[in-house]
Amino acid sequence: MQMYDIIRKKRDGKALSREELAYFISGYVKEEIPDYQASALLMAICFNGMTDEEISDLTELMMHSGDTVDLSVFGDLTADKHSTGGVGDKTSLAVAPIVAALGCKVAKMSGRGLGHTGGTVDKLEAIPGFNTALSAEEFIAQVEKVGVAVIGQTGDLVPADKKLYALRDVTATIDSIPLITSSIMSKKLAAGSHTIVLDVKTGSGAFMKKPEDACVLAEKMVEIGKRCGRKTAALITDMDTPLGENIGNSLEVIEAVGVLKGEVKSELRDVCASLAAEMVSLVKGISPEQALADVNECIDSGAAYAKMKEWIAAQGGNAAYLDNVSLFPAANYSLQVSAPVSGFITHTDAELIGKASVVLGAGRKEKGDPIDFAAGIILHKKTCDRAEEGEALCTLYTNIESTLTQAEQMILDAYSFGDAAPQKIPHVYKIIR
Ligand code: URA
Repeated sequence: MQMYDIIRKKRDGKALSREELAYFISGYVKEEIPDYQASALLMAICFNGMTDEEISDLTELMMHSGDTVDLSVFGDLTADKHSTGGVGDKTSLAVAPIVAALGCKVAKMSGRGLGHTGGTVDKLEAIPGFNTALSAEEFIAQVEKVGVAVIGQTGDLVPADKKLYALRDVTATIDSIPLITSSIMSKKLAAGSHTIVLDVKTGSGAFMKKPEDACVLAEKMVEIGKRCGRKTAALITDMDTPLGENIGNSLEVIEAVGVLKGEVKSELRDVCASLAAEMVSLVKGISPEQALADVNECIDSGAAYAKMKEWIAAQGGNAAYLDNVSLFPAANYSLQVSAPVSGFITHTDAELIGKASVVLGAGRKEKGDPIDFAAGIILHKKTCDRAEEGEALCTLYTNIESTLTQAEQMILDAYSFGDAAPQKIPHVYKIIR
C-alpha cells in the first residue's frame, strides 16, 4: 500500500477502505508518513468529505491509536459531556457536580483554552490549590468516593488526534465535519464514559457558524457514539453571543458558582440544566422531563452546590473561595466600555469578544503562555438589550494596563446597534437523541 495512492483515491472523491485508513493513522503516528502527505490527504477530505462508514472507521482507528481509560468498575453509571468550544462556556463547572449529586459518575478529562475559546482545566486552576493532575489511581478513587473528578488529559490518549489536530490547525483543515467528528469522538470514546452528551455550539463564536452545519455535525457524532455502544445525545446550543455574563477564568468560576447557589437565573442556568438533564436521563433511563425536574430540584435544594464544594476540596482546591467569591484576587486595572450610540444591540460577536479577553490576559496567544486568572470581561449588555449612549456595555479586567485600549476597540467592533431588537435566538436550538 502507498500513501500516494490513498491521497489520489480521496482526491478523486472515492471512499477509503478501513485498511487504507489504518495504514494512514498508524503510519502517521509512527512518523513513517510525513506531514506533507498527511496534509494533502486532510485537504482532500475537506474537499470531498467522507462516507459514514469512513468516519466511523477513522474514529475507531484514532481512538485505538493510544491508551484508553477503563471505567468499567462504575458499570453504566459514567457520564461525560463535551463542548465544541465557546466563549464564556463554563457549563462543565456546574454540570459535573449536578450530575454527580444525582448519582452519576463523572470521570472527566478536560482541555485548556484554545484560541478565543476557554478551557475547563484553566478555569479550575483559578481556584487556589486545585490539582488537575491526579494519578490514575487517585482519579478513580475520587470518582468512587465523591462521584466526580476532572483532570487534564493524561497518558497517551489518542496520539493520532494530537498530531493531526496540530497539523490541521496550520493547514486550514479544521472546519471539516468528518475531521471534527473523528477528532472529538475518538477522544470521548477513549475517555471511557458510557454516556456522552455533546454540546455543539453554533453562531459567531463557534466552529459551526450555521445551525444547519451544527446539526449535521451533531448527527454524525451521535451516530458514531451509538455505533460504538455508548448512549449518546447532542444539544445544539447558541454561541452567537457569549454564554452568560462573565468571560475569563476566575470570573467564570464565580458565575458557575452563582448558578449552583441559585443566584444566576439567566440562559446560562437553562443551558447547564438542559445538559445535565440529558446526561441524567440517559444514565438512569428516565424521561428527559423527569430528569430536568430532578436537576432543578438538585440546584434549588443546594445539593449541587454542596457537591461542588466537596469535589473542589477533594482535588485540593480552597472551597472557602466558593462560599466567599470576593476572595478571588481582583485585577489591578479595569475599564468600562460605553455605548457609542443609543439603540438596540443587534449582535455581540462572540469570537471577537473572546479574542479581546485573550488580549487582556485571560487566554494564551502562544501554547504554554501563562494565564492571568483575574483577567476577563463582564458583559452588562448583550444582543437584544437596549443601551443609551454612554451606558456601560461591559467592564474589562486585566493586570496589564496597556492591553485595555486594544481590547476596548475590539469590544466596540464586536457590538452592533440598530433601531429595533433582533429576533431572540433560542439558547438550545435542538436536541439530537
Ligand atoms: N475540537 C476538537 O477536539 N477537535 C476538532 O476538530 C474541533 C474542535
